[in-house]
Amino acid sequence: MINLVIFGAPGSGKGTQSEKIVEKYGFEHISTGDVLRNEIKNQTKLGTIAQQYIDKGQLLPDELMIDILASVYDSFGTCKGVIFDGFPRTIPQAESLQKLLQERGTDVSAMLDLDVPEDLLIERLINRGKSSGRADDNEATIKQRLEVYHNQTSPLIEWYQKAGKYHHIKGVGEVSDIFNTISQVIDSL
Ligand code: ATP
Ligand code: MG
Repeated sequence: MINLVIFGAPGSGKGTQSEKIVEKYGFEHISTGDVLRNEIKNQTKLGTIAQQYIDKGQLLPDELMIDILASVYDSFGTCKGVIFDGFPRTIPQAESLQKLLQERGTDVSAMLDLDVPEDLLIERLINRGKSSGRADDNEATIKQRLEVYHNQTSPLIEWYQKAGKYHHIKGVGEVSDIFNTISQVIDSL
């Protein structure tokens, strides 16, 4: 059982690469951003709460995200592997993920950090905004999301380095070249 954390700033390509991992390795994929956007689309109670945070480029409260994550994870049943995309985003979330997995007799196998320079992230997100219809892909919210990433999420790099799970992935270039690097890491697990 492989548990992969796919990590990186907004626009770093987590969703794009996760899709390719699912295709090649048949892993389950949990994208917390997708889960929340789906709740917003279906106008659920959770969706109403989520929208207030997402529109401002802020993170939802940890406790809420941890509950959501546990319920999606447990819905998978037996599988070869799981990709965590967009979770953890804070140190308390990383600690909770570790606890959740250990309680189920498993652990994070690797954390893949998709590293992309900031000017390219902004360019990608502004471009995505033209077709994604995502309320948070506009310049002001993008700036806010990057700030949240630097303050709350990037400390996880050191956290996973200390845990011996960290893998740096150059997130610039052809999607297929980036995926080859990722495949090499997965094949070595
Ligand atoms: P990428 O472009 O690399 O896929 P992203 O910036 O589009 O990354 P998503 O993962 O799609 O980000 O998440 C969108 C928004 O959903 C976040 O900005 C945040 O408000 C909320 N969100 C998603 N995951 C979490 C989480 N683990 N904790 C708190 N809030 C979250
Ligand atoms: Mg995404």
